[in-house]
Amino acid sequence: MATQAHFQAGGGYDVAIVGAGPAGATLARIIGEGCKVLLIDRRPMAADPPSPGQADKCCGGLLAPDGQKMLARQGLGLPRDVLVGPQLFVVRTLDLRTRRERYYQRHYINLDRGKLDRWLVSLVPARVDARFGCRLRSFERREEGFTLILSCGGKEYREQARLLVGADGAASRVRRLAFPDTPWPKRYAAIQEWFACPQALPYFCAIFDPGVTDFYAWTIPKEEGLLLGAALEPVAGAAERFERLKARLAEFGFRFDCRLRRHGGLLLRPTRVGQICTGGAGIALIGEAAGWISPSSAEGISYAFRSAIALADAVQARPGDVLSAYRRNTASLRLNILAKNLKSPFMYNSVLRDLVLRSGVGSMEVRR
Ligand SMILES: Cc1cc2nc3c(=O)[nH]c(=O)nc-3n(C[C@H](O)[C@H](O)[C@H](O)COP(=O)(O)OP(=O)(O)OC[C@H]3O[C@@H](n4cnc5c(N)ncnc54)[C@H](O)[C@@H]3O)c2cc1C
Repeated sequence: MATQAHFQAGGGYDVAIVGAGPAGATLARIIGEGCKVLLIDRRPMAADPPSPGQADKCCGGLLAPDGQKMLARQGLGLPRDVLVGPQLFVVRTLDLRTRRERYYQRHYINLDRGKLDRWLVSLVPARVDARFGCRLRSFERREEGFTLILSCGGKEYREQARLLVGADGAASRVRRLAFPDTPWPKRYAAIQEWFACPQALPYFCAIFDPGVTDFYAWTIPKEEGLLLGAALEPVAGAAERFERLKARLAEFGFRFDCRLRRHGGLLLRPTRVGQICTGGAGIALIGEAAGWISPSSAEGISYAFRSAIALADAVQARPGDVLSAYRRNTASLRLNILAKNLKSPFMYNSVLRDLVLRSGVGSMEVRR
């Protein structure tokens, strides 16, 4: 089990990891016994169910086949209480403009995202100094490493570390402070709303409507509810476009009468490999902070795992030259992003998408 917030003065760490989402918690678990590691997260993380006012990460909570493969590679199986029903075997693709729809066979594991995060944190070994409810404010460069300026419960603390790892997600403070001039992936404002819907059909529904977004929207059944989400370009009127999406979906039989909750978050979309930033000068970025996320589906959990494994391997194999080794270890991940961008026009260009949906290639019949 990870230790809860305790604050010892001084010390100095080999590695400080900012963010205990899937990327940071995985790195902290596998980085190796030889490293003295500090793991911090601004969220409380440990409480299950979460304490009042604590928001879980805004996420659809679907573990795609690549994410399942990454769990297998780490020798992990999911505990039952992280799962939510129903498990999903079909993607329903719906183009609201042409009213065309198709079904494609895919197996996603349907998860409670907050529980996934807390479970991953529970696997972090006790030798890691884990501090939750602790926020990185800024950092200063020293001759050998960094001084981190942290705040917890209104108090400010300082810690020192040789390698600083930004695993702090889409709005990464580490990236913003350390690499302000690197090109960022395209940013989206994601909105998700939960509705009571006991009869929701067991499909992950991917929804395309250029009048709402140039990316996509989704519905995911979660136990007795239905989650509706959308990635929206963060220009004026995003909330209105979300409402328009609901009105359009109502024409297709969706019911959004009884809203249970709503939350939002930032989502990155690396439309060019050059928008990925793995770090430099003593700082490594992993997970979405680096821009590791699928530009075609916004699936990011597997990328968080893969980049954490790549950095842990680099730390173990080349302690003197971690950042070059990490960059080399992620060459296949860069190719993966490139391939997803090549595939994207068939999903996001209206004409090509229509051709694909008309052709029915790879689709299946579903009896209703
Ligand atoms: C609406 C939405 C739906 C999504 N749906 C899916 C999906 O179904 N499947 C999928 O695979 N991916 C999905 N994604 C993407 C996925 O959630 C992310 O790519 C993934 O969580 C990235 O993991 P991470 O560890 O890099 O970052 P995060 O999970 O974002 O974790 C970052 C952590 O850093 C902490 N932190 C941030 N700043 C600080 C700071 N200054 N100090 C201390 N701590 C800090 C945060 O509290 C957080 O715990 C979705 C994303 C969005 C926005």
